[in-house]
Amino acid sequence: MEYLIICRICNQSININLMDIHNQTCRHNAEQRKKLVQLNLQVARLCEKAYMKKHRNSFETRIKIVIVKIQ
Ligand SMILES: [Zn+2]
Repeated sequence: MEYLIICRICNQSININLMDIHNQTCRHNAEQRKKLVQLNLQVARLCEKAYMKKHRNSFETRIKIVIVKIQ
């Protein structure tokens, strides 16, 4: 008789005889997904900083142009 259990990490039905192997691969995959989410957050923060820096420089340039035109 084959017994299936539900993995609490990935919610897949797993044959209980294969659970040890599944635990190792599932945990590894979960750690990889966590690292990917963290990297995505870092990239998003860097993109936001770059966007702010680009627009701040553009804004400061416009102010200088207006000041020169006024003088
Ligand atoms: Zn799993």
